[in-house]
Amino acid sequence: MNQRVLVVEDNPLNCELLRDWLEVEGYKVLIAENLSAAMAAVESEQPNAVLLDIQLGSEDGLALMPWMHQRPSVRQIPVIAVTAHAMLTERERILDSGCKTIISKPIDFKLLRSQLRLWINGEQTLQENSLRKKG
Ligand code: MN
Repeated sequence: MNQRVLVVEDNPLNCELLRDWLEVEGYKVLIAENLSAAMAAVESEQPNAVLLDIQLGSEDGLALMPWMHQRPSVRQIPVIAVTAHAMLTERERILDSGCKTIISKPIDFKLLRSQLRLWINGEQTLQENSLRKKG
């Protein structure tokens, strides 16, 4: 079964760019254009990862984080922030919120690929490694 990535992004062009790239990478793509759509999709679809635009129109994308943390069924889903606002103070606010990492716009797709693999498959890979060592 394909891994599912939820793209939370208000800009339609960015949505399409990410959708096309993620589909080529083999992911099933879900799109949410605002916070309430993101919350509904996180809860109903339980994606394997979330790509979260921080400046979500007039909304603060980071408001998704405390909402997810309050819900045991979704709080373990890794969230990767995607933002043009990569200033140091903004980085601290993003990482303090619980996002795993930050990808700056314009997106470095090689970095996005490695971060998605790390956060979606990381635990699995660690388990396999420890099993291999034991064997
Ligand atoms: Mn935006």
